[in-house]
Amino acid sequence: MIKIEHLVKNYGSNCAVDDISFSVEAGEIVGLLGPNGAGKSTTMNILTGYLSGTSGKVSIDGIDILADPLSAKKLIGYLPEQPPLYLDMTVDEYLGFGYELKGCKLPRAEHIAEVCEVVKISDVRKRVIRNLSKGYKQRVGIAQALIGNPKVIIFDEPTIGLDPKQIIEIRNLIRTLGKGHTVILSTHILQEVQAVCDRIVIINKGKIVADELTENISRAVENNRRFNVKICGPSREVLAAIKSMSGIAYAEVLAERDGEAYTYMIESDYGVDVRKKLFYSMAERGWAIIGLEALGMSLEDIFITVVDKSADDRLSKPGRVARRRTGTKDALEKQVAETMLQDGAEKRAAADATEIEDEE
Ligand code: ADP
Repeated sequence: MIKIEHLVKNYGSNCAVDDISFSVEAGEIVGLLGPNGAGKSTTMNILTGYLSGTSGKVSIDGIDILADPLSAKKLIGYLPEQPPLYLDMTVDEYLGFGYELKGCKLPRAEHIAEVCEVVKISDVRKRVIRNLSKGYKQRVGIAQALIGNPKVIIFDEPTIGLDPKQIIEIRNLIRTLGKGHTVILSTHILQEVQAVCDRIVIINKGKIVADELTENISRAVENNRRFNVKICGPSREVLAAIKSMSGIAYAEVLAERDGEAYTYMIESDYGVDVRKKLFYSMAERGWAIIGLEALGMSLEDIFITVVDKSADDRLSKPGRVARRRTGTKDALEKQVAETMLQDGAEKRAAADATEIEDEE
């Protein structure tokens, strides 16, 4: 349904999208996941025909977006990161306006009523958009995308700025829409794609670094058995005892201390659950476990893992993530932040240069 082939987008000397290719089958919900500046919005804007790529090809249901933009755009409903709302209009006026603009041929009253029903805004149709909550405004934006019943719906960061309850509602809504449409959404939140998407395409610095079924990523995240455990006892001996257990891939003492207890970060071998054995082993020695907290895999961890991966051991090597983080979490985060800042500054400079060139 959506096919992207060797897409490149340069802003001056800055390459925002660097030769990416992937396709989305009819009925799939695919998440484009990546940190800010990865190239997600640029890709979305090219997909919707709002921007043109420097090179490469994008087609929607076999129609080239550059060769025949009108026909391709008829197949797309788009919710940009900032929903294009006219705040002084009522919901009904705005959706009617969208209907006209798209030249929609479906029976007007029924179609708008149906869309309002799907996105659950029937009760606010007469209200002025400005006065709606952010969650409702987002729903109105989604309703606008659904007018004309497009085959493909594209969402750019659909839950950004919403409160937790609104986030859950919008995610459920997107899942429901996925039953009748092909959906592609961009986000920088791993949990969002895990909750909503069938497949995850991870993009970093304009390049695709992973393209996986969500269940594979989720399994990898779950199987990566990392946890923090708080144990009362002498830290050096406790650590040695933990390390001597089978099934432990990695263990370290964290700096945190709580009375006589220390916190240990433990990572087990792939697919092994060591928690019970750890409990009995510590109890035998008279060391009490007073806390245990499972550690999820962050987006940063996933990046480190997938960027490092070799062809067939992707996401499956325990120890690697923990070792990369050993005592250096802050340093790593600082390094990532510095790289991002530096990237941002370089890209802004490149963008400024382009703008100056354009003006000339
Ligand atoms: P994301 O949506 O993943 O945050 P973007 O697609 O917005 O990423 O940006 C990708 C890169 O392209 C960033 O480095 C950004 O600074 C740069 N960029 C985006 N839009 C422009 C523009 N209009 N002019 C110059 N550079 C841009």
